[in-house]
Amino acid sequence: MKKDLNHSASNMYSLGGLRLGRVAKGVKCSVTGCGKEALRSLPVDRVTAAGLKVGEARRAYLCKEHYKEFKKETKKDRMLEKWKHGTSGRGRRKFKRPQHVA
Ligand SMILES: [Zn+2]
Repeated sequence: MKKDLNHSASNMYSLGGLRLGRVAKGVKCSVTGCGKEALRSLPVDRVTAAGLKVGEARRAYLCKEHYKEFKKETKKDRMLEKWKHGTSGRGRRKFKRPQHVA
């Protein structure tokens, strides 16, 4: 009896790990003018932030090509942001020169 419980529990576990970004078969890419088979689903705002044009749904479905593009763009964005933050003054502190009083 205990064995059965364990079995179903581990089944649920493996399913939970794969929930994010999973797309059912036959779903098409949400990018305007694409229409290939989607592999990944992502929040629309993140996809549009990456510069991809998708419809107004809560989730965007991306085909292999567009997912690659999305990943590339978000990576670039992150690097840019990091760079911007680094030079906006917050991250850089001027070296304080020790003042010697003669
Ligand atoms: Zn596509």
